[in-house]
Amino acid sequence: MSAEPRTSGHSDHVALVDVNNFYVSCERIFDYSLRNRPVVVLSNNDGCVVARSQEAKDLGIATGEPFFKVRRLMDSHNLAVRSSNYELYGDISARVMELLGRFGTWQEVYSIDESFIGLNGTLEQVRDTAVQIRAAITQSIGVPVCVGVSATTGIVAYSSVAYSTRSSEMLSGITKEVS
Ligand SMILES: [Mg+2]
Repeated sequence: MSAEPRTSGHSDHVALVDVNNFYVSCERIFDYSLRNRPVVVLSNNDGCVVARSQEAKDLGIATGEPFFKVRRLMDSHNLAVRSSNYELYGDISARVMELLGRFGTWQEVYSIDESFIGLNGTLEQVRDTAVQIRAAITQSIGVPVCVGVSATTGIVAYSSVAYSTRSSEMLSGITKEVS
């Protein structure tokens, strides 16, 4: 682990860390009433769904679905609806990325809720680090993440990382499909 994250360098493994259901997970940090129930976040004008909790996905709600089509689920399935709060999401994202950077030999932020980081060590050591990352982010920030790891050698070509990491085997038990 390095004190200062670097944006390039050598690493034995590359990890892709992804916050699960990011917008909804941000909303849940400060509102316990949103836990263990279907939640959707709406677009700027509250017109359509832009993010869903797993429970909302399980109800068959699609991204982009107009709000008026899912409104009935608020009564029938206890669906919670929130307007988007991009200031909050940006703030949580910055905190997640800063924390992740402390674990990596290098870091490449890929999106608002995804970052690649370089990790050194054996697969077993990296697996332990992945568990620590999950615990640190959950405890410090309060959002759930999944961590996918693939082996690499030498300097990583970032353009190929996304493909190779997404197609790599995910560590069982601590990861899920990267989305
Ligand atoms: Mg995500």
